[in-house]
Amino acid sequence: MKLKQVIAKVLLFGVSFVPSQLLAQTNLPLSENLINFNSSQGETLLVESKARQDYIPLTLQFETQDNLAFCGVASIVMVLNALSIPAPKATEWIIYNRFTQDNIFDNPKTENVITKETVSKQGMTLQQLGGLLKSYPVDVEVYHGDEVSLDEFRQRIVNNLKQENNFVLVNYLRSTIGQERGGHISPIAAYHQSSDRFLVLDVSRYKYPPIWVKAEDLWNATNTIDSASEKMRGFVLISSQ
Ligand code: CA
Repeated sequence: MKLKQVIAKVLLFGVSFVPSQLLAQTNLPLSENLINFNSSQGETLLVESKARQDYIPLTLQFETQDNLAFCGVASIVMVLNALSIPAPKATEWIIYNRFTQDNIFDNPKTENVITKETVSKQGMTLQQLGGLLKSYPVDVEVYHGDEVSLDEFRQRIVNNLKQENNFVLVNYLRSTIGQERGGHISPIAAYHQSSDRFLVLDVSRYKYPPIWVKAEDLWNATNTIDSASEKMRGFVLISSQ
């Protein structure tokens, strides 16, 4: 039954509410400095991109974060699955091996970094993001925002986006780029040279679409202090060993 029919039926029977689970999905509005990937302009930037090697593998493994604090967890799962790292069995799928936002914490090494319970309450810092990734057989480079100039930030990430079998996760403050509002983590999937924009595949799909954001704005958003660590946010490069 379509939403209009449901509403008509509800009105017909004199009930004055619409069941909330039937309301249309809505993202929050985007500020003018951001380009919605789900637009003709957003599509054009991807077609014109010369650094989009990671776009298909990441979209094939896309995850929506399981809860409000799991942006880092969803991002890690996407990257480990995209790199085809040997995965544990997933209880949901019985005989099939695949990283999920639940079973990545089955590895005892992760407990030394941060527990699932703690991440569920407060998310994770850039260092913890790198530490959780290092619990698996991947090479990890962690960069805080204040360790790289804008040129280095752009160059290191673009270089990665031109290569297969390595990926970029970015840890940034949403409010710096005009979004609601705290710290966030998501993969970067592409770069468009003439507009100098990165495509961020936002894992909070219930809230925002993927966006093209100016490199300088994203770099500024990594140059913000995470109160949990009292260090700058930043980005992580991950590759197979
Ligand atoms: Ca890459």
